[in-house]
Amino acid sequence: MRVVVAGGGLAGLTAALRATELGARVTLLEKGESPGGSFVYSSGFVWSYRDLPTFRREAPGGDATLQRLILENLGPGLDWLESAADTPLTRETGNPLTFGARFDPKRTVSALVERIGASGGEILLHTSLEALLDDAGRVIGVRSSDQTHAADAVVLASGGFASDPELVGRYIIGGPGRMRVRAHPRSTGDGFRAALEEGALASAGLDEFYGRNLPAPPAEFPPERFVEVSQLYGRYAVAINARGERYADEGADWSETALTRATAHQPGLYAYYILDTAGLEGCVRERTAREMVETARSTGGIVIEAASLGELADRLGERGVPRDTVLRTLDGYNAAVAAGEEPSPPRTGQARPLSTPPFVAVKVAPSITHTIGGLAVDAGCRVLRKEDERPIPGLYAAGVEVGGVSVGGYTSGLASALVFGRIAAESAVADGQVQRRV
Ligand SMILES: Cc1cc2nc3c(=O)[nH]c(=O)nc-3n(C[C@H](O)[C@H](O)[C@H](O)COP(=O)(O)OP(=O)(O)OC[C@H]3O[C@@H](n4cnc5c(N)ncnc54)[C@H](O)[C@@H]3O)c2cc1C
Repeated sequence: MRVVVAGGGLAGLTAALRATELGARVTLLEKGESPGGSFVYSSGFVWSYRDLPTFRREAPGGDATLQRLILENLGPGLDWLESAADTPLTRETGNPLTFGARFDPKRTVSALVERIGASGGEILLHTSLEALLDDAGRVIGVRSSDQTHAADAVVLASGGFASDPELVGRYIIGGPGRMRVRAHPRSTGDGFRAALEEGALASAGLDEFYGRNLPAPPAEFPPERFVEVSQLYGRYAVAINARGERYADEGADWSETALTRATAHQPGLYAYYILDTAGLEGCVRERTAREMVETARSTGGIVIEAASLGELADRLGERGVPRDTVLRTLDGYNAAVAAGEEPSPPRTGQARPLSTPPFVAVKVAPSITHTIGGLAVDAGCRVLRKEDERPIPGLYAAGVEVGGVSVGGYTSGLASALVFGRIAAESAVADGQVQRRV
């Protein structure tokens, strides 16, 4: 049986190795010069929410079948990754809502690549999937940048469309502007587009994304600094938009996904996080807001300091944010908090006034790490057809390509890669065996 895997991130490497273990002849196509995808920039935590009720609460619009698949298959997946690739750095996540392990991305990728080669699989670099080959509704291979590859099964693992400004503009931003990319630059929706052309059904959540607010331009940083430069202290700040207004609940969720998504819908796609001295001491994942602000400054980001809120409003006014609105927003927020009233928009967690000078404003811009919507699949990671919601024979998806897992929230992209990579390979090989018998 021949399996072609498109994409060499964690999802593709996992699917390729699992398929070779099950006896398939595997060719993995990787568009870039090296395998690994976004995994190599990541923190390496492969995790799931602890139980289904927590998963449902954190991602209420997500597909419960896929959430259960992750929950139930992550443990065996982690054991498999450990035996196939590398010992985890830790076997916990530090977040009481979740369980999982942390792997060294570079070491894990090299080990998987080596194992795929040693098991007879082939990895073709600089080779991209361009289209699916079809015979009477069955996928029978792919056309790549340089040739056709016949296959009994194709696993799409090309990482969603975070790096394609046209698709991000159309589905997510829904207007002008461009989001910073905090992901692999080659995940440009090739697999997603090819599957739609084949008649695939798109999942829910196409307008959602997972990402972080990062220092806004002119700040510059290489992908290796994506984790470090993240501005993950909205919960200690007051976030205002280009109109000088609060626009979201800064503390809505632990990962600040909701705040980042809301920022992507603000004029100019930016915001200012405003902190007082007490807020700067707030701690997230063992780093203070002050440290994260200093990182923003070190990248050339815009960091404004002022002795009073009036002076801060003046400085923001010089940058085009209406001074009077800024002051009205901050005074109104402070007054509501001091009176024990809910500010508008409401604020989850302990709201504190901005009262201890000096004050700081940091310009942030939303970035996309991965898409939430993608291809609709069944519990075997078989891509579904739009027309009748039945599997398209020969077509599977894994990783970010699988859409709809965490609609309304966020979950581990690396868990989707590991769990769905294994399931896609297992379904592809099992379906191939059934196909040969009939
Ligand atoms: C800074 C950062 C930190 C993160 N931290 C975490 C974390 O701690 N925990 C977690 O769970 N997630 C984390 N993530 C997200 C996680 O890394 C991704 O969700 C995950 O790696 C996605 O894996 P994937 O294999 O589905 O896709 P990708 O990693 O995007 O891989 C897709 C691959 O397909 C290739 N490709 C694209 N198009 C084609 C084509 N046409 N033909 C052939 N190949 C193609 C690409 O070059 C790429 O190598 C982080 C991401 C970043 C950027």
